[in-house]
Amino acid sequence: MHAKVVVVGSLNMDLVTRAERLPRAGETLAGESFETVPGGKGANQAVAAARLGASVAMVGCVGDDAYGQQLRGALLAEGIDCLAVEVAAGVSSGVALIMVDAASQNTIVVIAGGNGRLLPASVQRFEALLRDAEVIVCQMEVPPQTVEYVLGRGRALGKTVILNPAPVKGPLPVEWFATIDYLIPNESEASALTGLPVDDLPSAQAAADHLIALGAGKVIITLGAQGALLVSGEGSEHFPAPVVAAVDTTAAGDTFVGGFAAALAQGRSEREAIVFGQRAAAISVTRPGAQPSIPSLAEVGNL
Ligand code: ADP
Repeated sequence: MHAKVVVVGSLNMDLVTRAERLPRAGETLAGESFETVPGGKGANQAVAAARLGASVAMVGCVGDDAYGQQLRGALLAEGIDCLAVEVAAGVSSGVALIMVDAASQNTIVVIAGGNGRLLPASVQRFEALLRDAEVIVCQMEVPPQTVEYVLGRGRALGKTVILNPAPVKGPLPVEWFATIDYLIPNESEASALTGLPVDDLPSAQAAADHLIALGAGKVIITLGAQGALLVSGEGSEHFPAPVVAAVDTTAAGDTFVGGFAAALAQGRSEREAIVFGQRAAAISVTRPGAQPSIPSLAEVGNL
């Protein structure tokens, strides 16, 4: 299969426990339900790009456990090329232990597991995939040296390189900026990257200006129900989000990034790709869950 979108990133199994309230330290509590749900930002964005019309290949690493097989299986079921999803011996797959209370507050412990074994050498083995790609997408749930390697190779090969800087605690290494075509943070990530508060359009504009001054090509800050702000050296444009009744915004950002990448890979303009990504993300927030909430191309309607 000719892979137009290559996602290099994480696969996690989300272990979701629901209870009336969160337990205190040392406390054992009877809960109400437990589910295992395939997730991880990389895998979610790969699923979004595939459902939204792109040929997708995933580069990642799972552990040699049952979750690893299930995570690969979930991507294969979406028609995603998983030849570059390797299995690391002696490590668990990435997991997120999520506890949710009756008021939907949660606590989450993430174990990188196999994701931590995705090193530049692993990506190097699959250089052919990068060469074949139109668009390369990374997040930050894999080791930073791997992200840096992929951004640099993507730039050297002349590909469109997208970084969704999530999760992030502070500024990015400044030398990364010259290798990124589209930096796509949400409000809290934009704030962490710049040290500036970001909660509305003017503050998002200020943060994006800061990131452009550091050398980012183009910045798209996603602002939840307030839509997205595209900023480049030439100016900025606000794209309002479709108005929907949101029930669960999990994976809204992943759906946007996957949809945006899929549309670019199919030759759409960046403006069309943003509108398309937002339409897909708006549908995802009307449904519960992460991967299950991501719509298909038919649902979003052709551009
Ligand atoms: P993240 O999921 O990373 O926190 P955002 O909350 O910024 O990202 O959402 C990403 C995109 O999803 C937004 O730019 C918007 O297009 C869409 N979106 C998110 N929340 C809503 C909402 N309540 N209504 C409509 N669209 C939404």
